[in-house]
Amino acid sequence: MGIWVFAEEISGAPSPGSLELVSKARDFGDVSVFYVGAGSDEAWAALGDHGATAVSHLDTGSTLPSGPAAAALAELVGDASVVLFGMGNTDRDVAGRLAAKLGKPVVANVLDLSVDGAVSVKSEILGGTKAVTTEITTDGPAIVVTRPKAFTASPSGGTAPAVTTVASPDSGRAGAAAITEQHSEDSDGPSLEAADVVVSGGRGLGGAEKFEMMDELAALLGGAVGGTRAVVDAGWVPYSYQVGQTGKTVKPSVYIACGVSGAMQHLVGMKGSNTIIAINKDPEAPIFSVSDLGIVGDLHEVVPQLIEALKARA
Ligand SMILES: Cc1cc2nc3c(=O)[nH]c(=O)nc-3n(C[C@H](O)[C@H](O)[C@H](O)COP(=O)(O)OP(=O)(O)OC[C@H]3O[C@@H](n4cnc5c(N)ncnc54)[C@H](O)[C@@H]3O)c2cc1C
Repeated sequence: MGIWVFAEEISGAPSPGSLELVSKARDFGDVSVFYVGAGSDEAWAALGDHGATAVSHLDTGSTLPSGPAAAALAELVGDASVVLFGMGNTDRDVAGRLAAKLGKPVVANVLDLSVDGAVSVKSEILGGTKAVTTEITTDGPAIVVTRPKAFTASPSGGTAPAVTTVASPDSGRAGAAAITEQHSEDSDGPSLEAADVVVSGGRGLGGAEKFEMMDELAALLGGAVGGTRAVVDAGWVPYSYQVGQTGKTVKPSVYIACGVSGAMQHLVGMKGSNTIIAINKDPEAPIFSVSDLGIVGDLHEVVPQLIEALKARA
């Protein structure tokens, strides 16, 4: 028995989501991590600090990791109670492949779990409008995919875990796929997911050029800019800006929604923010139902005034 966490290396470190999962998993006992990437002493120290006691390390080099990772994991997790994944592309790819190999179901979109003999998970369905609790009664490991920021990464002061190198298994044709190019977007400010303040623009902005106003407001607040799917679909901003069900999940201290109606698919990606401020000219806009502060007004008048007020304070 035991808890396993899948961790992908991003920019030389365990993905932020994997540290959130390790922090949660330590509530239930010893935590083993399956780590995919080059690995380093710093990575092991970060995992240990968050509660990992053992790491199985697979380095697939330029081979696409999902096939080999699922094949190797299937050999390791036979008597585990749970294998936890985040929502990253590799996480989901490996979770699906592992489920097929083990003949087990996957429960996705999970916001909380308990492991008390039985494994019980809370997840959202129907676009985040309903929460359900599922008890997983199959034998063998429960395969659970969790939503970003469902848990908080919290160091526990643990020591470096025992690290075991895993040989890359034969995963057939899946092991033949190679990574030929990697691309990372340049950005001046904090990343959307890590920012303490997020300024988000919706269709109410009226055009791509109005995002300059969002950039200026975010820069004054030391935050990042996000958007709705409507503005992404309109080509005003890239997909990397999208907050919501099919975009990113953010949980900043302050989320400022400008010209955002508050469709449920948007709300699931930001409703966990600490303080939500909405600027919308429609007093009936659903965004006001989740807002702590609301301004009913034309954002083209309100936002410039806000920018001027912030500049005056600087
Ligand atoms: C399967 C699926 C997945 C989806 N995933 C996502 C997702 O991940 N993220 C997401 O955001 N959406 C997602 N959507 C789309 C979602 O349903 C909405 O269509 C979208 O969020 C609406 O974007 P919006 O609020 O910018 O636009 P609108 O709904 O058009 O709202 C614009 C708002 O701006 C206000 N406004 C207009 N002019 C002004 C002004 N001058 N001043 C102030 N306010 C003004 C209006 O009153 C209105 O409330 C998804 C939809 C589906 C079906």
